[in-house]
Amino acid sequence: MDSPAPGDLVAAAPTPRIPVRDRGGNLLGTFPVRRIYCVGRNFADHAREMGATAPASKAERGNPVFFMKPADAIVIDGVVPYPPGTSDLHHEVELVVGLGTDAPAGDLPLDVAASLVFGYGVGLDLTRRDLQAAAKAKGLPWDTGKGFDHSAPVSDLLPAADAGDIESLALSLDVNGERRQQSSLDQLIWNVPDILHELSKLYALRAGDLVFMGTPAGVAALQAGDTFDARLGDIARLQGHIAQAAV
Ligand code: MN
Repeated sequence: MDSPAPGDLVAAAPTPRIPVRDRGGNLLGTFPVRRIYCVGRNFADHAREMGATAPASKAERGNPVFFMKPADAIVIDGVVPYPPGTSDLHHEVELVVGLGTDAPAGDLPLDVAASLVFGYGVGLDLTRRDLQAAAKAKGLPWDTGKGFDHSAPVSDLLPAADAGDIESLALSLDVNGERRQQSSLDQLIWNVPDILHELSKLYALRAGDLVFMGTPAGVAALQAGDTFDARLGDIARLQGHIAQAAV
């Protein structure tokens, strides 16, 4: 870490930044990350595999489950050290949405909520499942299971204007060349405008915020040495591997 800036008594952390590329792979610039919101139980098949009840219809879906990760959990080079404190690191492949506009807290209309989107990518909501399960069993917060160093590897972002309609894009994850997770985004219980509308009831949304939109069924363990290849249709791809634990 560098020396503190004049006036600062400790060194400031650098702002995490995600590359933004067009469809041709040309680097357009970077996306500075402010906050990372995550959605739980947003695919019925995953809710069921975790032992939760999936809503039978939109009218019965209640409120979405939200949690957060620290911004510096972002990994952009695909190299994820196996984290400490767990023996059950799970992958959750997810649509990642980056916001480009501030909005006040309130009850944002769906069209305004949709207009906040800057771009899309694909990421992994890495989870220390053993710690999350222990917390759930005791009714305790999920933080240690979800918000840890290197827990948010993410692809480059594609501007929304270049992405077109994402409603029916395929989301998939291969580990060591074998398919682990696959779904279509039309299976989301809460789509992107729905989620931004719900978040706006709780938070002032900001340019630079990211939203991990929730995972379909097929979550499972990753080991050091595993390779992963996550895709969102033909608009985003994240390739990487789990490295030995950091020392
Ligand atoms: Mn997740």
